[in-house]
Formats: sequence, C-alpha cells, structure tokens
Amino acid sequence: MSDPINRDGLAPRFWERKPLDRMTRREWEALCDGCGKCCLNKLEDEDTGEIELTRVACRLLDDCTSLCAHYEIRHQFVPECIVLRPSTLEKNLYWMPQTCAYRLLWEGKPLYDWHPLISGDPESVHRAGVSLRGQTVSEFDTPEEDWEDYIIEEPT
Ligand code: SF4
Repeated sequence: MSDPINRDGLAPRFWERKPLDRMTRREWEALCDGCGKCCLNKLEDEDTGEIELTRVACRLLDDCTSLCAHYEIRHQFVPECIVLRPSTLEKNLYWMPQTCAYRLLWEGKPLYDWHPLISGDPESVHRAGVSLRGQTVSEFDTPEEDWEDYIIEEPT
C-alpha cells in the first residue's frame, strides 16, 4: 500500500541525528506514524489534570485511513486544531499519545520498530495495534456525557 505521508528520499535515520528544531518541513511531517490518536477527543480530570483519550473522533478523522480527511485545510472546519511545530510541542506534550513519534523524540526515546520510517510500510502501525483505525465513533453521534464510556487504554 502506498504511504499517505510522503517519506521518499529522506536521509536514513535522520531523526537520530537531527534535532527536532533543525528538521525540514518534510522531515517533520514524516515523523507522524499515522496512528490518528491525536485526532481523538480527550477528557481531562478536573482535579488531577490527567488526560484520557477516547475513541470519539474529531469530525475530520477518516476512520478508514486513520488520517485527517482535510489536513491542509482543516482549520476551515476545526479552527482550534493545533499546529504542531518544535515551538508548540512542549506545551502540548501533556495530552499527546505515549506512542507519538514527536513525544518519543522529545523525551529522547527511540522510535518503535513499527514506525513506517523504520518498517518502510505504512501498514505496520496498524498491524502493531497502535492506531484506532476502524474503531472510532463519530463525535456527532456520541453525546459528550457518554464519552467516558469510550476511554482507551494507553498505549494500545
Ligand atoms: S499522535 Fe502523533 S504520530 Fe499519531 S497521528 Fe498524531 S501526530 Fe501522528
């Protein structure tokens, strides 16, 4: 299957040698493993500030691919969607999935073998059971008071 994220022609293991803030836009975008978990609605515990991810997906997440259906123009539909950059990474770490490549590299950890940059196969993230492809429910059809029923364990 062709990779929906363009990872062609990048230097081998560039993420092990280049700091995040020195990466080109293509290198930065290629770090995304395609799990889609950042596009899940989250619940925050008011007392502890702890974040839990739910299977209730953003309206733009394509459940069949686990990718944003309108990534480049997503702010037209979801203005509050974040733009992840080296400069915005730290303040967003508190909610980011534990397996997210941006989080792992920020924490000085290696990428997993199932990451498409290592496996060379965009399907490996799904085979490893890390993505929620085919398992999300619509935020339109799921009242917010029911989101607790859809909390997922991390990492999955
Ligand atoms: S959680 Fe991280 S790796 Fe997964 S889709 Fe979002 S940005 Fe990409």
